[in-house]
Amino acid sequence: MDFNDSPAEAAYRDQARAWLATNAAAHKAEHGDAKPTTPEHMAAAKAWQARKAAAGYACVTWPKEWGGGGGGPVQSVIFGQEEAKAGVSYGYFTIGLGMCVPTVMAFADDDTKRRFVGPAVTGEEIWCQLFSEPAGGSDVAALRTRAVKDGDDWIINGQKVWTTGAHYCDYGILLVRTDPDVPKHKGLTMFWIDMKDPAVECRPIHQMSGGSEFNEVYFTDLRVKDSQRLGAVGDGWKVALVTLMNERLAVGGSAGPNYRQILDLARTLGGPSGPAVKDAGFREKLADWYVASEGLKYTRFRTMTALSRGQTPGPESSIGKIIAANQLQDLANAAVEMEDQYGILADPAVAPMEAAFQQSLMWAPGLRIAGGTDEILKNIIAERVLGLPGDVRVDKDVPFKDMPTGR
Ligand SMILES: Cc1cc2nc3c(=O)[nH]c(=O)nc-3n(C[C@H](O)[C@H](O)[C@H](O)COP(=O)(O)OP(=O)(O)OC[C@H]3O[C@@H](n4cnc5c(N)ncnc54)[C@H](O)[C@@H]3O)c2cc1C
Repeated sequence: MDFNDSPAEAAYRDQARAWLATNAAAHKAEHGDAKPTTPEHMAAAKAWQARKAAAGYACVTWPKEWGGGGGGPVQSVIFGQEEAKAGVSYGYFTIGLGMCVPTVMAFADDDTKRRFVGPAVTGEEIWCQLFSEPAGGSDVAALRTRAVKDGDDWIINGQKVWTTGAHYCDYGILLVRTDPDVPKHKGLTMFWIDMKDPAVECRPIHQMSGGSEFNEVYFTDLRVKDSQRLGAVGDGWKVALVTLMNERLAVGGSAGPNYRQILDLARTLGGPSGPAVKDAGFREKLADWYVASEGLKYTRFRTMTALSRGQTPGPESSIGKIIAANQLQDLANAAVEMEDQYGILADPAVAPMEAAFQQSLMWAPGLRIAGGTDEILKNIIAERVLGLPGDVRVDKDVPFKDMPTGR
């Protein structure tokens, strides 16, 4: 394992820090008051994305001819670390640039790429991922949204769910069933679609946090051109795997308060017998969180080392996501309990530590599901890392229409 930046990496970090020092300050002066989920916040996000794109920091690893920075994965990680420290980051583009547009770049023709990649990099257009359905989440190949050929077009009917950002997105990549007569993985096809088409209806889902970041999306006779197809007819699963591989990398880390913040809280809060930090039970938990956090830190160093040697990272991102998401939930539960009656305040203006733990209490369960649930990631680790026998797949060779739920 290599813990230090190489001379070239250190130079890149200095350059990124210098750019962020000037540009983050200018951006905050102009847009610092924008509240999340407002139109002003979206405008601020787009302005920051455009500023990064102009300097080659929007998509660090993408070729310059496509608006990227022409850099490597380690440089991308370095810029992400420095950007987080600079306190300017927006989530609107993560799914589009992390998963959807790379899929478009891998499977679309040159005209389509020329039309869409540039505006996505600069933040003018935002993309969403339309895979999950009520009957197809972990087992996404069980999806039922149907596309039927009609001359040169396809007519699409069905429903997606949990689509992050569908209500503000301009375009999406959509996985549908084009052939129910073959086994479930073989009858799928991928398209890109216009989210503003009147045949696409987004219904935001109200979350316990009060926000509405996800949607149900309904398609009623949505007509798409065959030229909107990504990959061959029936090859949608292969295309989706490219998206999902990028998803595991994009969702791998976890933001939110860590054991240091709960230690600070425990020094000031507690029961009649004194601050929580003096309590033996709490100290034992704190030790567990510290050990897990250090394990995560070194696991990330292993990923960085693999990337800087030009190797593909192994199963670290699956391990990292399970540990980080569970720890976030555990820390949040303990902190909110410690805050006692203040724990029910979710308003950052009045809650302890600007409601950081309340927010992560509501976000952590979702993190344990998005990008692969704990159980699915454990299955992956069991099968691909430990070499244990595979999950039982009774429907592998059965035509989709003959499956009990396939109609
Ligand atoms: C924050 C968030 C954002 C999301 N954004 C998007 C998005 O933008 N686009 C999109 O398409 N989807 C999105 N999703 C949906 C997400 O991909 C699915 O929720 C996820 O794949 C799980 O599917 P499911 O909800 O249908 O649960 P299910 O698959 O029904 O799982 C239910 C339970 O059964 C367990 N389980 C299922 N199969 C197995 C198995 N083989 N072995 C052991 N246990 C199993 C699961 O672990 C889980 O506990 C998002 C979800 C969240 C939480």
